[in-house]
Amino acid sequence: MHVCLAAKLRAAKHAVIFTGAGISTESGIPDFRSKDGIWTKMAPIDFNDFVSSAAMRREAWRRRFAMDGVFASAQVNRGHRAVATLIRQGRVSFVITQNIDNLHQVSGVPADQVIELHGNTFYAKCLCCDIRVELEPIREYFVQHGEAPDCPACGGLLKTATISFGQAMPEHEMARAQAAAGSCDLFVVLGSSLVVYPAADVPALAVRHGAELVIVNREPTPLDDLAGLVLHAPIGDTLDGAVRAL
Ligand code: NAD
Repeated sequence: MHVCLAAKLRAAKHAVIFTGAGISTESGIPDFRSKDGIWTKMAPIDFNDFVSSAAMRREAWRRRFAMDGVFASAQVNRGHRAVATLIRQGRVSFVITQNIDNLHQVSGVPADQVIELHGNTFYAKCLCCDIRVELEPIREYFVQHGEAPDCPACGGLLKTATISFGQAMPEHEMARAQAAAGSCDLFVVLGSSLVVYPAADVPALAVRHGAELVIVNREPTPLDDLAGLVLHAPIGDTLDGAVRAL
């Protein structure tokens, strides 16, 4: 299987990788939709609920800090390392990711080659003035008061720098992802159920612009029929095997 993927990577002139939560499960970070995924345990908090309800904001921050241990022990895995190798070799120009876990950057992919469609959970932003605020002072305040502080600059609401359901997508990152998808000849999806829109439009856009689509995902996705190669297999083994076969 990985030999077919290696052949496609070898033949490609401009490859782009698109990742979802599935690339990080082998690092111990649960995904959303697998049978032991996060949503089997709790419903997501909608952006409007976060903005309108102090109780929902407390719950969102509680959940974020409850994940501290998981994030602290999460190490990059073979899948992340194989992606970083492909970037270093110049075979892949960008990693478009729905992940918020920063692991592509930790694995050595330069930050300007990671396009984060759903943001990053390792810092916060003010929903009003958009300034970046580090998590540590928020964590300290939360431990003391059971809620997050207001923005130190403008008094607005602080939220992890992630995109929730109902929240506008980051325009610049979407435009960069669309440009990368529209100009590549190979688009490789790794570990995404491809049901979260508008992110899941990006692989379809690549196909409309003539790229070949490859999907590596344990389970079938709605875009499998568009793909020239579908591997229902674990990412670590598959991508590591493909990179070694190059
Ligand atoms: P998802 O949970 O909807 O789908 C993950 C897919 O990956 C599933 O279809 C599953 O079968 C597959 N998968 C899991 N482990 C795999 C493995 N080792 N090998 C091959 N396939 C594997 O996740 P999604 O499509 O990324 O979309 C949901 C949202 O989840 C995204 O917006 C993202 O922001 C968020 N999320 C991110 C993280 C993270 O940053 N690590 C974790 C959970 C959720």
